[in-house]
Amino acid sequence: MSDVVVIDEIIEDAYDTKTFVFKWDPEVRPGQFIMVWIPGTDEIPMSVSGISEHVKSITVKAIGDATRRLHEYKVGDRISIRGPFGNGFDLSSKNVLIIGGGVGTAAVMPAVVQTGADTIIAARSDKDLILVEKAKKYSGNVWIATDDGSAGFHGNAVQLMREKLKDKKYDCILACGPEVMLYFTYKAC
Ligand SMILES: Cc1cc2nc3c(=O)[nH]c(=O)nc-3n(C[C@H](O)[C@H](O)[C@H](O)COP(=O)(O)OP(=O)(O)OC[C@H]3O[C@@H](n4cnc5c(N)ncnc54)[C@H](O)[C@@H]3O)c2cc1C
Repeated sequence: MSDVVVIDEIIEDAYDTKTFVFKWDPEVRPGQFIMVWIPGTDEIPMSVSGISEHVKSITVKAIGDATRRLHEYKVGDRISIRGPFGNGFDLSSKNVLIIGGGVGTAAVMPAVVQTGADTIIAARSDKDLILVEKAKKYSGNVWIATDDGSAGFHGNAVQLMREKLKDKKYDCILACGPEVMLYFTYKAC
């Protein structure tokens, strides 16, 4: 069964990324996703990037047909969603490091908000960084990495993670981002 929700707010996070905010009551755990139906185009998975009791959000990077179409939606338009799906993150560890790469940052943001854990946000360049200010509101340690060095650490998320692990040990690392980032994060762990 799907729910139809009305877009209440649209936030421009970056030149190609927007957050869509809507009222929706179901309980969602950090890391879960919903299916978003874009009529005539596709139904696509989107992580829930903002979770409060009655309001949720998704953060969408325009890369193809469905996501570009979604970017044309305005405040007041309706979207049809199903979910939430997935297990979400296990947030039971005490000492957590959270890593968001590119639009994967959207998926880890509710975990940052809930735990206030140390966070690495990585992107290709400063113009691709998203949700940094939001992360800083909830976490005392938000470290930035960009591939081209235009903001923060000059290098990728895994290189910065290795630097941070020299100073501090973590019980658990939560990450969402490109597959290659996840592979090397896992190997480093
Ligand atoms: C569980 C889950 C959660 C997700 N959460 C989010 C989310 O929170 N926000 C979000 O924006 N997306 C998220 N995605 C990805 C999103 O579902 C896809 O971007 C979307 O399905 C693409 O549909 P489309 O019709 O716009 O693109 P399509 O028309 O299907 O085209 C996709 C094309 O873009 C290329 N491509 C894929 N990824 C990228 C990229 N990162 N940059 C540039 N090109 C790329 C592909 O190779 C392909 O050619 C999630 C995916 C999964 C599986």
